[in-house]
Amino acid sequence: MGGKLFGTTGVRKIYGTEFDLEMAVNLGKALGTYLKEGTILMARDARTTGRMVADALTAGIVSTGVNVTRAGIIPTPTLAYSVDVFGYTAGVMITASHNPPEYTGIKFWGGDTMGFTPEMERELERIYISKEYLIAEWDSIGNVNSLETAVDQHIAALLERCDHDAIRSKTFRVIVDPGNGAACVLTPYLIQKLGCKVVTINGQLDGHFPGRKSEPEEESLGDLIRMVKETNADLGIAHDGDSDRVVFVTESGEVVRGDRTIALFAVDALRESVSKTVVTTVDSSKVLDEAVERAGGNTVRTPVGDIQVAMKIKEVEGVHGGEACGVFLFPEFHLAPEPFLASCKVLELMAKTGKSFGQLMGDIPIYPLMKTKISVPNEKKASVMKALTDALPEAMGDVNEVITVDGLGISLDQGWVLVRPSGTEPVIRITCEAPSQEIVQRILDTAKEAVLKVVNAV
Ligand code: MG
Repeated sequence: MGGKLFGTTGVRKIYGTEFDLEMAVNLGKALGTYLKEGTILMARDARTTGRMVADALTAGIVSTGVNVTRAGIIPTPTLAYSVDVFGYTAGVMITASHNPPEYTGIKFWGGDTMGFTPEMERELERIYISKEYLIAEWDSIGNVNSLETAVDQHIAALLERCDHDAIRSKTFRVIVDPGNGAACVLTPYLIQKLGCKVVTINGQLDGHFPGRKSEPEEESLGDLIRMVKETNADLGIAHDGDSDRVVFVTESGEVVRGDRTIALFAVDALRESVSKTVVTTVDSSKVLDEAVERAGGNTVRTPVGDIQVAMKIKEVEGVHGGEACGVFLFPEFHLAPEPFLASCKVLELMAKTGKSFGQLMGDIPIYPLMKTKISVPNEKKASVMKALTDALPEAMGDVNEVITVDGLGISLDQGWVLVRPSGTEPVIRITCEAPSQEIVQRILDTAKEAVLKVVNAV
C-alpha cells in the first residue's frame, strides 16, 4: 500500500484498501526512531479499527526502545494538552477526524501542544520510506503504561479559565451532540460542571457513527437543531469524531458558521490584549476581518489546516485564531484546537452580557457564501492552477489583491473568490463570498466559467 503518507494534517486513509496494520507497525517504528528516546502518550477516537491500530503502533514504538503511555478514548485536544501538562515527549492520536467510519488515521503532536509541523512530518516520512529503524535489544524494549486522568485534568484546567460562577448562576439549558465521537467522554461532564442542564444526543461512543455524519455541518445537525428548538434550550453544541471541532447552534436553531464565532471571540479577546493580531485561514469570511478591524485589531491569513494557524499564532504572537469549519485556538491556554474552552467562552459571554447566543451573534453580519467543485484529475491540478494565476484575475476584473498562501485567492471590490485544489479528492474547489446573494452568484458563475475554460484547455 503506497501513495503519499501525509495529507493536510497527519495520515488519513481508508482501512483495508489504503492502510493496514503493517503500515501502523512501521509508522510506530519510524516515530520511535525519529524521537530516539522518551515516552509517547497515545490515544484514539471511537473508530472500530482504533484499538487494533493503537496496538500495532505501540508494538512498533516500543521495538525502538521508546516508551508508550496509553490514554484510551479521549478527544484530540485532551491528548495535545496532556502531552504538555504531563511532560510527555510527543503524542499520537489515532483518528480520522470527521471522515466517514471506514477511515483511520494518525495525528502527531509535539511536546508544546502543537501538532507536528510539515517539516517534522517530512522527516518522519523519510524514515518510514527508508526503513532504517532503531532496533532495541531484548533487554531495552520500551515499556507500556496507562494514563486514566487526562479528561479530569483537562476539565479542571478549563474550569480555571472561565468565569464558572457567572455561568453557574444562569442555569443554562444546553443540548450536546458529540456525534458518537470522542467528545462523549468530556463535553457533557464539563457543561454539567458549569451548572447547566444538559441533554446529550448521539452520546454513546460508537465507531460506526450511527447518529449522524461525523462532520458537524448544518445538513447533519437536524436532530440537534430540532432538539434545541423543541426544548427551548439556550445553546446547541456539536463536535466531530475526534472532537477538535465544535459548531454552535443558537436558541432559535441557527447553525453559526465558525468564522463568525471566531469574530465573537476575537472581539472579546482584543478588549484586553496587547497583541492585536487574529489568525485565520484563507477561506474565512470577510465578516471576520471587518469585526476585528472595528475592534482595533488586524487579521493574518494562512493556508488551511489547524497546524498552519497554530504555527502563525506562535510566530506573530497572535491573540486568537481559528478556522471556519469550527476550529478555535486560545494561545494563552495552548496551541491545539480548544472546542471545550470555546464552549465555556460562549456560555461565559452569554452569562456576562445577559444576551442570548443568537443576540450575541446578531452583532456579526452574515455574508452569503457559495461553493462548488470541478472535477480535475490529480495530475492536471498543478498545470490548471498555474494557468489560472493569470486567467482568473483577468476574468474577474475589479481585483484588489491576489492572495497565494494557499490556492489562488482574489479579493474584489465587493467580495472574494478562492480557488484551491483539494488535497484528498480529484477536484478543484471554488469558494466565494460577497455582501449580497446576487453578487456572490455572479462571482461564482464568472469564476466557474474561467476555471472550466482552463481545465478544458490544458
Ligand atoms: Mg477533527
